[in-house]
Amino acid sequence: MPFSSAETQPATRADRSPSAGNYLSWGRYPPARHHAIYRANWTDQLPGILEQAAPESLLAHGLGRSYGDSCLNDGRDLVECSRLNRIISFDAEQGHIQCEAGVSLSDILDVAVPRGWFLPVTPGTRFVTLGGAIANDVHGKNHHRAGTLGQYVRRFELCRSDHGLVFCSPGSNPDLFRATIGGLGLTGVITWAEIALKKISGPFIDLETIPFHSLSEFLTLSNDSDETFEYTVAWADCFSQKATRGIFFRGNHSNKPGPPPRPGKNVSVPFAFPGWVLNRYTMRMFNSAYYTRHAFGKRGSVVPYQPFFYPLDAVSQWNLIYGKRGFLQYQCVIPDDSFEAFQELLGLISGSHMGSFLAVMKRFGSIPSAGTLSFPRPGLTLALDFAMRGEATLRLLDELDKVVVRSAGAVYPAKDARMSRGTFEASFPNWQEFQEFIDPKLSSSFWRRVTGAQ
Ligand SMILES: Cc1cc2nc3c(=O)[nH]c(=O)nc-3n(C[C@H](O)[C@H](O)[C@H](O)COP(=O)(O)OP(=O)(O)OC[C@H]3O[C@@H](n4cnc5c(N)ncnc54)[C@H](O)[C@@H]3O)c2cc1C
Repeated sequence: MPFSSAETQPATRADRSPSAGNYLSWGRYPPARHHAIYRANWTDQLPGILEQAAPESLLAHGLGRSYGDSCLNDGRDLVECSRLNRIISFDAEQGHIQCEAGVSLSDILDVAVPRGWFLPVTPGTRFVTLGGAIANDVHGKNHHRAGTLGQYVRRFELCRSDHGLVFCSPGSNPDLFRATIGGLGLTGVITWAEIALKKISGPFIDLETIPFHSLSEFLTLSNDSDETFEYTVAWADCFSQKATRGIFFRGNHSNKPGPPPRPGKNVSVPFAFPGWVLNRYTMRMFNSAYYTRHAFGKRGSVVPYQPFFYPLDAVSQWNLIYGKRGFLQYQCVIPDDSFEAFQELLGLISGSHMGSFLAVMKRFGSIPSAGTLSFPRPGLTLALDFAMRGEATLRLLDELDKVVVRSAGAVYPAKDARMSRGTFEASFPNWQEFQEFIDPKLSSSFWRRVTGAQ
């Protein structure tokens, strides 16, 4: 990861590739065939790319870690931003870091952790770009204490086809600032952004794991932990025939000093597994074994930050285990007062025998999200994967949507590939207010699907 100053680079032509069929999202569903991919190497290529684009033809692409179609633009063009990967400045006194939009959270951690700083909010993978993380206003295990990433964005520059380069901060173009945070890449292409990091005393986490045996036990653990633990999350076994069981994880940054531990050697899934490998029996066995491993009462340990925040990053291309048809992740939030609805969701999932490994549960806190279209809001969130098995899978997810909409909850666009227009409108009642900030040259597969836009 090179450091670089903010000096202007000579304008060069961006690479344009017409053979663009292989850009998929993390769930590898839905398939998409792009018309052209523009690979921007320098931020000063972005105005030219936007200028020559046709109306509603282009979308910025980060590292494609969104699960569904919010990072796809089927039949149209993408501008790949992951080569905009220069850290522009880092104030190690204040913990402010300014980066081009394609810098990954992993790159930021490599620079920040040895100097005693950490990401203020991080999703469950570090292989996302800063631009992509802002466009989905991502949340993490500290939502109850810290809110979403948008709270820590100090300023950014947006490249628009109609207004050129626009500087945005809470005090400058505040409406466009709010629309861009969680704005699904539709308000312009972020060229660079500055975020405020969080001071830490070391690279380790004091971790406690506690088994639970019912949803109300999980809620009690959440309530008891929110005050004293910065990070909380739970894993639930959706195959359990009895009441919801799972493991509650809670942690704080540790005072244990030491050099940042290097992540262990990654293993990799070399090819898409055949569809029969993952079935209800293998998944039930996996979930049961995982539960049993952690089920011996409360345990404490000190662990490096990587396995705590990013357990899935240890297996490169783990998304291939779901086979050629890919998978869908479903993440929703249900308001706090709709406990029964949450229970109904879990019942539908376990009854379907279609859930997969780790169903993640967390209680979101009440800090308002920074973006106009941000997903997180107070309540219980549930996220889990479903191998794509055609109509049966889609029907089940529609059933889950009905429960979510009935309880005034929301489905997360970053994970979605199939929610209906009705579910989207119910989840984001202010979507029309957002629409006026969309750049006329930008569009996405997701946006066309959920709004009927052309
Ligand atoms: C294993 C795993 C765990 C995850 N855990 C979480 C989690 O805990 N919490 C959570 O919130 N999310 C989570 N996610 C989802 C992920 O954090 C988001 O989808 C994130 O936005 C992906 O970033 P990306 O760089 O891959 O962007 P992409 O997926 O490529 O794009 C995402 C969006 O960003 C836009 N975009 C990209 N670059 C720019 C730019 N320069 N300017 C403007 N818009 C841009 C795109 O147009 C698109 O709308 C997880 C994903 C994975 C695979």
